[in-house]
Amino acid sequence: MADEFDLIRRYFAGLTPAGDDVLRGPGDDCALLRPPAHSDLAVSIDTLVEDVHFPAATAAGDIGWKALACGLSDLAAAGARPAWCLLSLTCPGVDESWLAAFADGFGALAKREGISLAGGDMSRGGLSITVQVAGYVESGTGLTRAGAHRGEGVFVSGWPGRAAAGLARRLASTDEPGDPLVTALNRPEPRTRLGPQLAAAGVSACIDVSDGLAADLGHILAASGVGAELDAGALPVAPELAAAGSPDQVRAWLLGGGDDYELCFTGPDDLDVDRLTAMGGVPVTRIGRTSAAEGLALVELDGGRSSLAEIAGYRHFGS
Ligand code: ADP
Ligand code: MG
Repeated sequence: MADEFDLIRRYFAGLTPAGDDVLRGPGDDCALLRPPAHSDLAVSIDTLVEDVHFPAATAAGDIGWKALACGLSDLAAAGARPAWCLLSLTCPGVDESWLAAFADGFGALAKREGISLAGGDMSRGGLSITVQVAGYVESGTGLTRAGAHRGEGVFVSGWPGRAAAGLARRLASTDEPGDPLVTALNRPEPRTRLGPQLAAAGVSACIDVSDGLAADLGHILAASGVGAELDAGALPVAPELAAAGSPDQVRAWLLGGGDDYELCFTGPDDLDVDRLTAMGGVPVTRIGRTSAAEGLALVELDGGRSSLAEIAGYRHFGS
């Protein structure tokens, strides 16, 4: 039976493009990296655990894609360009067709995004995947959650809520092959083209939507010490999401659903969203504004207001 060194050679060494900054990739005690001059290093690590982050029946290729997509989304939120990553894979045994499919999904996204797999680890145990990603951002221009000011616009990329609707369908087995909502769940598109454009556009704070739009925007507001109000009529609703449930359910998915990996950010109220849309390759929508009042409110078309404090987002621990 193949040992882990055979498996690493077969499925992971050479899987991704070798970046200029990777002097030594998989196969040694350490990867050796040479970051470009005048850049800051952005790093993030995420673990996906079976039955916590994805249903046990999820296809291996989708798991590979998503494990990398989560990290790429964090880099985008910091405004960083993807550079290299490390993969720690724990699986119950040697299932080569599973490994081949996992590497296929991981590799497809890595190649498209030009991120180099510089090393990793493999061990036996319950299925769990940890990916550390690193990217570069021009010195001093990395975006954080702090930095929003009152009187700015609030913006979001793409169509939040689709992944949560896809998960509901998947768990109820009501999805059809190729269902776009399930694709949004299993093959999320990290906004890697948009993220690095944001700092130059004057964006003041940014986060990726992994736990739900209201909850993640709440992190920006807390870190920045401002409040915000969202215009219900401005929220971008994908047609397939609008068709997936009652208006209340659709709104709950849109504001509270996690796993979308869209970017939510604040910036100049007159930010040129058309230009950012063209440069980032994904629609950017202005959904509200920051305010001096604390917390997050939703303003209906008729002027009615409600607080969004109760939409807390997904929590692993605590209530
Ligand atoms: P060590 O015993 O020094 O921890 P390992 O046996 O864990 O080394 O790994 C051997 C080499 O293979 C290292 O260079 C490591 O980075 C690489 N590697 C291990 N697992 C993976 C993986 N899943 N993907 C890519 N490279 C890997
Ligand atoms: Mg090791």
